[in-house]
Amino acid sequence: MAAHGMSFQMPDCALEGYLIECSGGLQTHHIINRGKARGNKKVRQELDCDELTIKICAAHNVSRIADTKEARAILLRRKIDEFGYDRMKNKIDGLSWKVKHQEFALEAMLEAGRMK
Ligand SMILES: [Zn+2]
Repeated sequence: MAAHGMSFQMPDCALEGYLIECSGGLQTHHIINRGKARGNKKVRQELDCDELTIKICAAHNVSRIADTKEARAILLRRKIDEFGYDRMKNKIDGLSWKVKHQEFALEAMLEAGRMK
């Protein structure tokens, strides 16, 4: 019964090691804040995808550290590693914003979060 003997590895917080210690359970974080899509149900649903959500610990989520430009760039780079640049760019460029948000272009978000 090998399957029963295998230990389950908890996935780590995607921001582990960034500014503060991790603590608490993992939570789903939206890389582009759903508050930006208030009143736009379609975009709110589109933001709920594997490419734009990521697991982070409660400490990183609740402290809002994950919402900083630098943290967002870290999370986007992890997603680019996972899914590839083109898929991430297509996903982000394809969001159904009513008004175009230049600050949410993939390159703009990566650039804004470049560590000084
Ligand atoms: Zn954490």
